[in-house]
Amino acid sequence: MAKKRTFAAKLAHEIGTEGKQICPNCDIEIKRVKVLRNKKRGANNWSPAVTFQNICKCNEGDIFSVKTSMQ
Ligand SMILES: [Zn+2]
Repeated sequence: MAKKRTFAAKLAHEIGTEGKQICPNCDIEIKRVKVLRNKKRGANNWSPAVTFQNICKCNEGDIFSVKTSMQ
């Protein structure tokens, strides 16, 4: 039980709005976004994989181009 509570606390901390992360490169707030990725496991075999990505000015172009090319 103690372990579960610790995990929940960690999760709440990570997705909470307090403790914002500012990118040292572009000085913009880093946003945590859910990204759906195509996890290929073969020619006709794939499964979606949901990952969380930290996005700021440095990599938002990369992230969004990946997203649109997948649709
Ligand atoms: Zn940045």
